[in-house]
Amino acid sequence: MNMTQDIKLEEKLEYISINDSSPEDQEPIIPHERQIVDQVIAIWKEDPSTENLGIAKLHALVKQKHPNWTVSEKRVKQLLKKFSLLSSQEQFTYAKDIKSELTPDIELPPKVQVVMTSKRGKCLYAKKPINKGELIWSEAPLFFVPPLANVHLVEHGSACANCGKLLQQTEMKTVLKGLDCDVCSEVWCSKNCKQMDSQLHGALKHNVFNPNSKKPKVVDSNAFLEMQEYCLKESWNALFAITLIYANVLLDKSGVKQKQFNAMARVSQDVRYKALDAGGGTFDNMNGGALFVQEQQETLWKEGYEKLLRAFPKNPISYKEFLYMMGTYNINNLDSNVFLTQSHLNHNCDPNTTVDTASDRVSGLKVFAKRDIREGEELTTTYVNPSHTLNQRQRELRVNWGFICACEKCKSDAKATERRKSSSSSKKQDTKSIRNMLKETKEQVGDGGIELQIPNEIGGDGERRKSVRFDETVVAVGN
Ligand SMILES: [Zn+2]
Ligand SMILES: [Zn+2]
Ligand SMILES: [Zn+2]
Repeated sequence: MNMTQDIKLEEKLEYISINDSSPEDQEPIIPHERQIVDQVIAIWKEDPSTENLGIAKLHALVKQKHPNWTVSEKRVKQLLKKFSLLSSQEQFTYAKDIKSELTPDIELPPKVQVVMTSKRGKCLYAKKPINKGELIWSEAPLFFVPPLANVHLVEHGSACANCGKLLQQTEMKTVLKGLDCDVCSEVWCSKNCKQMDSQLHGALKHNVFNPNSKKPKVVDSNAFLEMQEYCLKESWNALFAITLIYANVLLDKSGVKQKQFNAMARVSQDVRYKALDAGGGTFDNMNGGALFVQEQQETLWKEGYEKLLRAFPKNPISYKEFLYMMGTYNINNLDSNVFLTQSHLNHNCDPNTTVDTASDRVSGLKVFAKRDIREGEELTTTYVNPSHTLNQRQRELRVNWGFICACEKCKSDAKATERRKSSSSSKKQDTKSIRNMLKETKEQVGDGGIELQIPNEIGGDGERRKSVRFDETVVAVGN
């Protein structure tokens, strides 16, 4: 979000200028807490092996980077504690706040079934053995969200009004091919895109909302276009996405899309925000974090909410529901789009499926078996980059999806770290912290081994989390 990015940038600039001049000439300074925390995180990112260092060594590294900083080891420790960055600390998770229900009207792939588990919510299981490399299913998006960055090009007819694909000069002679809009200046790249977009396009972009007409439109187009500008200005993809999702839901006369969206793993954005906030907002994505304070964040949410209400004057939603839509979108989307079946896949750092999204985005995705899968085995995907370190993965998963991973890979990584520690030195403190993490993990998600016997029918209450993958880059707080 612009506002806070500016703040962040200023801090960065200040910080870089400190770094660039030679330290000897510098007066000692007392750094701001944020500078210290950012520096520690920068050290961890530069060299992930430093994540396991004790406070004394970490403090020494900070001093090495900033010889003129007046900062004690004690202050470093206090700050890491304040921002919940000590590995021995109990971490805020929100998996227990994620609810899901059985999905109505879902047509499952032949070898797949949905199972409700008490610990992990909805899961996909293999009904039959699946061979390595086999295509398990392919699907089109349930909710398609075009790239927000291209909306101006779309308005000028230089990009497809549906998928956002840039159009070449030659392709722009689409008038001949009947791919232009009769009413406005927008064009589509293909018949398929024109067809996909036919209902939504008219509803969102044509006609002025008139409350006095006999059948007022679902969408106030002017308010929608204003909203689109606002999302672009704030780089707020999630708001743009939920606006499109809500329009889709309202235009779906069968009501099925609404039910399907509501049955997905559901969580309020303000609950997710607590995890970001607890981590100093720092691990929300790999580009560094947003520096929102709670009040700023709420002001922004409310502003977005008002704009959403204006776009749908006939069908207002509550602010609470708005936050739920945003949280739910954030944990369920994959590259901005929302897929019905794929959103049932739970996470594992060593997954047994590969999810390939089409480069044109509109064609949807294909799910392949990454290795031989036994009958009764849960199908899994990874929400984070599996090559990241244990600590990085755990943080990303906790902040973005609210849980602590207890998969076999995490357990063996933790054991390996523990072995290294105990053989290298007497860092009892850190060894203890890994034990704590594993213990905590066990309490949270059970043994991670997951029940392998396959229940015959769907049952149990889905009180527990079910989570789904979402684009790593979309994780900014406001999203
Ligand atoms: Zn297109
Ligand atoms: Zn049009
Ligand atoms: Zn894991």
